[in-house]
Amino acid sequence: MQLEQKSLNALLEAVKKLDNGFAGLPEFSPTAYDESRLLDVLNATAERLHDNYPYFHPLYAGQMLKPPHPVARLAYTLAMWINPNNHALDGGRATSAMEKEAVAEIASMFGWKTFLGHLCGGGTMANLEALWVAGQLRLGKKILASAQAHYTHHRISNVLQLEFESVPADSEARMDMDALRKRVERGDIGTVVATLGTTATGSVDPLPEILALREKHGFRIHADAAYGGYFGLVDNLAGHAQSAFARIAEVDSIVIDPHKHGLQPYGCGCVLFRDPNVGSLYQHDSPYTYFSSAELHLGEISLECSRPGASAAALWATQKLLPLVKRGEFAQRLERSRSAALAWHEKVQEDGRFVAAFAPELDIVAFAPRANSVSEMSAKSRAIFASAAQRGLHLAVAELPVSFFSSLEPGVRCDRETLTCLRSVLMKPEHLDWIDRIWQILASAAEASQTPKCASRSNTQP
Ligand SMILES: *Cc1c(COP(=O)(O)O)cnc(C)c1O
Repeated sequence: MQLEQKSLNALLEAVKKLDNGFAGLPEFSPTAYDESRLLDVLNATAERLHDNYPYFHPLYAGQMLKPPHPVARLAYTLAMWINPNNHALDGGRATSAMEKEAVAEIASMFGWKTFLGHLCGGGTMANLEALWVAGQLRLGKKILASAQAHYTHHRISNVLQLEFESVPADSEARMDMDALRKRVERGDIGTVVATLGTTATGSVDPLPEILALREKHGFRIHADAAYGGYFGLVDNLAGHAQSAFARIAEVDSIVIDPHKHGLQPYGCGCVLFRDPNVGSLYQHDSPYTYFSSAELHLGEISLECSRPGASAAALWATQKLLPLVKRGEFAQRLERSRSAALAWHEKVQEDGRFVAAFAPELDIVAFAPRANSVSEMSAKSRAIFASAAQRGLHLAVAELPVSFFSSLEPGVRCDRETLTCLRSVLMKPEHLDWIDRIWQILASAAEASQTPKCASRSNTQP
């Protein structure tokens, strides 16, 4: 059995408990459904879902994907019997309260006691709100983000009709501070986006230095910690990343994705503002929504209207079980992911067949097979990717600047500016126990894509 099923017993018990809470209502029968047809359709759904990579398994070591914690899955499902809407208290009183509590716990992880914040559909929506607020508070000024920032910032700026510029990244995929310094000295910069954990390599922009520049130039700082935000809890970061997370409380807004490292189902992002007064920017009149109380309705401080109360129930339950504290179980799970990335990076460095990019700052490793030229290395990466998948090991490929691979020998012909490399996001704590096994599969995939030569060619160029 691969997919855990025991938790379904807990679900039945909880549904009964929920049902008890409505015992006072007059009996009624919901519209009936045909049980056997429902089962047929559900089984057909299960069949369709087979066509996925096994994201839950340690041998899936590719993109940023992992299943939610069982408690999140169950709490979400439980809430589905009610389907609350966190737009207004009228639609989701209990889950709005749970959202406020869960979001306050996230804010407190960043050191904020007073703040404004809420959940939303994901990191894209959360960043959109942060840049929307930033644009209103720095009218006519530009948004700046590193070339390795998520592409969403450029696109969101277009949507908001804010001018956007990117700053080059250095050889470790962090925002280049010399370039930033020169750029902000020319003026007209309203907001700098600092990425704490880039999507490609998990690199952390040098926040202390960006904060120092803010002293002089007065721009806003938005921290995009959609991926990396939770790593502030762990004890095994290197000094550079640690010093960035240590200063995160000083930024103006933060985005974090509970649906990435927070063990949540998709549809759970979070945006936080240090100054609660930005709430006034959201002001709107609704003739039909906010009637049940004068208390804050989340729709009054959020751009999205209808939102799943179930997301809040899932997050609340997860944080009850696994509080966001240093040295707690949640933090230890992340530490294991990080240790797995360090172990993997070490293996790459020790193995003559591969070359590593810079040391990982979080839990993402990037590496490539050695060859005589960048284009040959790229072709080999793709071949190993395919051959590993045939052996049940699922990696990802990424297109990264050759400059990220500073340990490349001078003899390697640089016939392309970017290198197609292999990339693994080690999001599951179990990855640490599987490193040796994963490495064996990777090694045999590398062997197989090497010999015989013509066979590997025909594999990669069908
Ligand atoms: C994933 C990610 C985003 C986009 O978030 P979604 O939840 O996919 O919408 C933005 N920024 C960073 C740094 C990310 O890793």
